[in-house]
Amino acid sequence: MNELMSVETQEYIDRLAHCLEVMGVQRWVRRSIGVESPHQEQEKASLSPVAPTASVAASALPSAAVALPHVVTPEPAREINDSLTALTVPAAWPELQQQLRTCQACPLCQDRQQVLVGEGDLQSTWLFITDYPDADEDAQGQIFPVPPLRALFEAILHSMGLKRTTIYLTMAVKCHPLKSRSPSVKEQQICRAYLAREIELIQPKMIIALGSVATQQVLNTQQELKTLRGQLHFYEKQNIPIMPTFHPHYLLHRPIEKRKVWQDLQQAYRYYQQSKNGNE
Ligand code: SF4
Repeated sequence: MNELMSVETQEYIDRLAHCLEVMGVQRWVRRSIGVESPHQEQEKASLSPVAPTASVAASALPSAAVALPHVVTPEPAREINDSLTALTVPAAWPELQQQLRTCQACPLCQDRQQVLVGEGDLQSTWLFITDYPDADEDAQGQIFPVPPLRALFEAILHSMGLKRTTIYLTMAVKCHPLKSRSPSVKEQQICRAYLAREIELIQPKMIIALGSVATQQVLNTQQELKTLRGQLHFYEKQNIPIMPTFHPHYLLHRPIEKRKVWQDLQQAYRYYQQSKNGNE
């Protein structure tokens, strides 16, 4: 039993070390100032740059002993124009996906090549939401189709013991806007009906919102991501926890923010595990 546990733990530590490396999160390394004594040199040698240290494992492993993450009450909903949110969406998956593929409810239908319908496990307890399709996603009909974005997203999943096939992945707005613009607030409001139905059908136990549009859509707010991330929120009346964090695309341009994403995901993972253990 102990042997099995140590093998599993080592595998987990190796996996985390790999994910931290791919995500570009720097691991803790002891620094020495000035001339090093033989004893210090010996210590330095023991802090292998490849093998994860005990301190890395301790900080990376989600622990039941760690306090619950900070939880905030739902943010006030933004002003909704009812005439724009009157989109009727089917209650069942096949009809929902069919309607999505031919949707012309907002001006974005004129610019897209195809609608990005969600993908993955419809029974999953994990729902990941990203902002809206970029040009590659619009052309290929898949979310995160090309590296390095794909590799980074998969590393993020891997760090949580997840894979693309074990989550459900969708977009807050399903069609690609031309000229590198973001979807307007009106377009977001119209498309939100689809996201709401997906959440209703999947009934996830944890939602990760990647990016500001995803966060604003799922929280029905116009507050900025930087004020929302790092804390758990809850989805309307269904009490589903939501962790907002940065979009992988943003991390490619601002790698220094990867640590914050790592911290956000740790919080989400801990809360998920503690909720799960509490229900068993
Ligand atoms: Fe329809 Fe949403 Fe695409 Fe607008 S963005 S056309 S509402 S699927």
